Amino acid sequence: QLSVRLETVAGFVPENARLADIGSDHAYLPCVLAAREVVSFALAGEVVKGPFESAAEQIRTSGVGDRVSARLGDGMDVIEPTDHIDVVTICGMGGDLISKILEKGRLKDKLVGVERLILQPNNGEKKLREWLIAHQYKIIDETILEENGKIYEIIVAENAETPENYSDLEYTFGRFLLQNKNETFRKKWLSEIDKCQYILDSMQKASNDLNDKEQQVINKVNEIKEVLKS
Ligand code: SAM
Repeated sequence: QLSVRLETVAGFVPENARLADIGSDHAYLPCVLAAREVVSFALAGEVVKGPFESAAEQIRTSGVGDRVSARLGDGMDVIEPTDHIDVVTICGMGGDLISKILEKGRLKDKLVGVERLILQPNNGEKKLREWLIAHQYKIIDETILEENGKIYEIIVAENAETPENYSDLEYTFGRFLLQNKNETFRKKWLSEIDKCQYILDSMQKASNDLNDKEQQVINKVNEIKEVLKS
């Protein structure tokens, strides 16, 4: 019933979790996890009325209304201390928006008691890793997958006892993804090289001098090539 992307996210949700799925849209993830009895309670948070109504409808038709509730609100504002949420999923948005939702949530103490974050950014993975490490999270797992021609990364984080030491390369490519450079990882970064090449071609058409911006793109291509060598 779930897409491969959401099924992979579901695989990181521990048994008996109390889940908040922020930006839930249709609420497929919390409804399926409640029906499978993986979660004992779940919230489907939505900031837009249309998706919020479709979440409420999905909860009703899935027959999980006793354990799942749809709430209309911005980001983690929908979480109340009495919900005892311990797992948060935020999927299918840009990494920048996910970081902003987490930052707002942190400032409002919504992350207190949350033991695991499962995040699926559509882009901006580097910025998201930077936010996590800067706020004393430890990335405990990562995965990369392809579905319908799109490549997605999933980042799983938990509170760290001490700040993690991350290199620039690990922020960009992902510590776990670097340890197992699978076909999907290679495909993603080969296509990044193609994008860089296209940018360089159009820049070089505009001017013959190598400027700073071009040098940055060349450095990025060289970095990716270096990573893909092994
Ligand atoms: N999480 C689902 C998934 O991965 O299939 C739905 C992803 S959908 C592309 C993104 C959803 O996030 C939209 O329904 C949008 O309304 C919602 N959203 C965007 N910003 C939000 C915010 N600040 N708080 C709550 N929901 C938000």
